Amino acid sequence: MAMRAARAYIGIGSNLEYPETQLRQAFRALAQLPASRCVACSPLYRSEAVGGPPGQPDYLNAAAAVDTTLSPEALLTALQTIETAQGRVRTVRWGPRTLDLDLLLYDQLVLDGSRLILPHPRLHQRAFVVYPLYDIAPDLEIPGQGLLSELLKKFPQPALVRLDSAE
Ligand code: AMP
Repeated sequence: MAMRAARAYIGIGSNLEYPETQLRQAFRALAQLPASRCVACSPLYRSEAVGGPPGQPDYLNAAAAVDTTLSPEALLTALQTIETAQGRVRTVRWGPRTLDLDLLLYDQLVLDGSRLILPHPRLHQRAFVVYPLYDIAPDLEIPGQGLLSELLKKFPQPALVRLDSAE
């Protein structure tokens, strides 16, 4: 890569159609992004669905780090293409989904666009984002929010189960 690559972090979630398979397939798809290199994948975490309609199946979440020369907008488009390829249909807001990919961070870029907000606006509110992100980037600083290690302390007893690789 001739151009300097940005380090992007991606949050991954699924609660439909064999979520573990969805997440592992998402890792593979991220490894094949154009002009990019996937440099880390977090362990998988299980949690109960928050918000949206009642009675949803549990969620599985993870995070990945990608070095990329794609622009933030092009990266978001590529992530949405992966979501669509894995069968995501946007129906109910916060309803169940086969795959949700969020662009959490793109270097230290701060953006407030109509299509893309960076850092992801709900990153710091969710244990299921903060924990897997911390696993792959313990020294990370979130613009406007401070150190990820400090954010983690806001969730001392998260309702999250980290899956063993054997599971
Ligand atoms: P969701 O249905 O939760 O996946 O939200 C997707 C919508 O959020 C899309 O319309 C995106 O344009 C918008 N969006 C804004 N900022 C981000 C971001 N950092 N990562 C992913 N989607 C974003």
